[in-house]
Amino acid sequence: MAKAKRADVVIAGGGSAGLTAALAIKHGAPALSVMVIDAAGPRKGGPDQRASAIAAAARRMLAALGVWEKAASEAQPILGMEITDSATGDAVRPIFLTFDEPLADGEPFAHMVPNGVLGAALKESAEKAGVKIVAPETVADFTVQPGAVTLALGSGDKVEAKLLVAADGVRSGLRAKAGIHTVSWRYEQMAIVVNVAHERPHNGIAVEHFLPSGPFAILPLIGNRCSLVWTERETEAKKLLAEDEFVVQLELERRFGHHLGAITLDGPRQGFPLGLTLVRDFVRPRFALLGDAAHGIHPIAGQGLNLGFRDAAALAEIVVEANRIGLDIGDMEVLKRYERWRRFDTFQMGVTTDVLNRLFSRENGLLRIARSVGLGIVDRLPQLKRGFIREAAGLGGELPRLMRGETL
Ligand SMILES: Cc1cc2nc3c(=O)[nH]c(=O)nc-3n(C[C@H](O)[C@H](O)[C@H](O)COP(=O)(O)OP(=O)(O)OC[C@H]3O[C@@H](n4cnc5c(N)ncnc54)[C@H](O)[C@@H]3O)c2cc1C
Repeated sequence: MAKAKRADVVIAGGGSAGLTAALAIKHGAPALSVMVIDAAGPRKGGPDQRASAIAAAARRMLAALGVWEKAASEAQPILGMEITDSATGDAVRPIFLTFDEPLADGEPFAHMVPNGVLGAALKESAEKAGVKIVAPETVADFTVQPGAVTLALGSGDKVEAKLLVAADGVRSGLRAKAGIHTVSWRYEQMAIVVNVAHERPHNGIAVEHFLPSGPFAILPLIGNRCSLVWTERETEAKKLLAEDEFVVQLELERRFGHHLGAITLDGPRQGFPLGLTLVRDFVRPRFALLGDAAHGIHPIAGQGLNLGFRDAAALAEIVVEANRIGLDIGDMEVLKRYERWRRFDTFQMGVTTDVLNRLFSRENGLLRIARSVGLGIVDRLPQLKRGFIREAAGLGGELPRLMRGETL
């Protein structure tokens, strides 16, 4: 039988959360061997068309890890945000709430970065730092024994490690193998993602229209382009995904409005089913969940990956410190610190996005009036608005060192 390969830390899943964790651990503890194993099959529906709102705290971490400089030319600062609440066919969508103040030091609270650009920058940085990336390959199973975890790979190979981090996405197979239970439900909604080119400049303003079928977000990209996250009831979304481009363009114009002049579809449409998944535990002996494997949330606030970045920063800090003082990095005492740090934050964000989605995705006259009054009140309270901006920037709560822009 072939001898098992060895690594100190193996990360299963080379999405943005997994790659960031690998890079952050390697950055803080260059002597640790870090391996990323990624299934990396061709994506159904072609390359990811999404762009992500990267909060200021995550940007600081990416800068500290040398990733940001590789993505910066494609990163559009979000300089303001407008929120409306209206019916789908309304000719005018009054703005109830605006956010247009940067953070205290003039830093934008978030940037929009295409997922393809971010993934490539992370992969390049991780490889340069000495992370070994094995792909296409899967972690099929694992067994824990004293002092090590042994991974069985899809190819039949084996790898022995001190710590296995499962960053294998929201439907994490490794989470199930670890016996970690979830609380989860599907929203009867899907997000249609499509990029749009338009006549007039967006000036860095993001717009979120709360429509009865769900939020319709217009997110600025570099140039006269925007990324749309268009939430619809599932059956309607499936129809729109299969529909002729001309029909989609008409439906789009009804929702988008005319504030940016003429618009044209710029690239394929992709559909994403939406749901909420929260985990009961983050860790088991020699095993930790990270990214969407630990929490799948509604994209209404653009915070899913930002939570994953926080996981990566917190786990790296704990692993690097434990290693520095000679502790076993796969020990439950060490991993429990990570769980305590991340559990409440992810639970809170999951619940907040769930409540927001339920509150705003409803066609009810009275509720609409109550929402408009509520948004109007927030709009008149600069102190409260500043608080929301700090949260959206990822600067609330106990920040990991990397998210303060410090190195480990
Ligand atoms: C429409 C939409 C818009 C969004 N917008 C934003 C936003 O603006 N801001 C934000 O912060 N978040 C946003 N999100 C959320 C964000 O996209 C996710 O949180 C993020 O992509 C999760 O990254 P991840 O690395 O945890 O998982 P994934 O990206 O799902 O990566 C998992 C990886 O694991 C691999 N894998 C799976 N099984 C195995 C295995 N057994 N062995 C090895 N590898 C395996 C897969 O191939 C994949 O590469 C949005 C989500 C949606 C749906």
